[in-house]
Parts: sequence; C-alpha cells; structure tokens
Amino acid sequence: MVIDAIKNGIVIDHIAAGKAMELYQILGLGELDCTVAILKNVVSGKLGKKDIIKIDQNLDLDWDLIGYVDPNITVNIIMDGVRVEKRQLKLPETITNVIRCKNPRCITSVEQELPQVFKLREGRVYRCLYCETQAGK
Ligand code: ZN
Repeated sequence: MVIDAIKNGIVIDHIAAGKAMELYQILGLGELDCTVAILKNVVSGKLGKKDIIKIDQNLDLDWDLIGYVDPNITVNIIMDGVRVEKRQLKLPETITNVIRCKNPRCITSVEQELPQVFKLREGRVYRCLYCETQAGK
C-alpha cells in the first residue's frame, strides 16, 4: 500500500493493532479540520501488525494521553517533509479527566465537579487519587 507522505504534520506510529480508534477518540481528533488518516492492521516487522494515525497538521497533542493508551507508541513530527522529532512515550504519572472512578462510594461520584485524577502506581496500574480504586481499561 502506498500512503501519501505528509509535508507538515504528525505521524503516530506503532500503535497496537486495533487501538487507533480508541486513541482517535481520546485525543478528540474528530474535532480537527485537517486531514486525519487512520491506517489499521499495517504489517510491521516489530509488532506483527500495527495501526498508524497521520495528522496533516502540526498540533500540540496531549502526549500523556497517548502514552496512557499505549506507551510503545512513537510519535514523529514532520516538517517540510522531513522528520524533525521522534518522541518516545511513557506511561504518564497522572491522568486527569480521561477515565472515571468506578467506586460508587468514591468522593468523585458524590462531588461531580471534582476532577477525575488517577495516579500511576507500581509503574503500571492506575489508581484513583481519592479512593485508590484501580482503573479498568
Ligand atoms: Zn475513586
């Protein structure tokens, strides 16, 4: 498959196959005016299959959110047809207002205006800041 190269924009690469839509929704890419291409099940030597998202514009994305969806993702920033930056992501320490606490007795279930804050624990699981309930993906 031949994919048009982007001149100025962002290529989100090495997304685990099947996760592109989740990332698309979490990042709110549907709100953008520019061209956004989602490539699914691209054959890749490293992962078997992967998804790729191409955004035909340079924007300030929420890198933490991308890392939350999948820390193995790499983000390439393209300017004038040349890759100027390759960003490796990691699991963010804190994620705010992305997932909701499922504990009905959690203060965030009662005080709706509180932000939904989750903290990374033991380097891999997210727990609610207020009640330590583990987040389910
Ligand atoms: Zn909670």
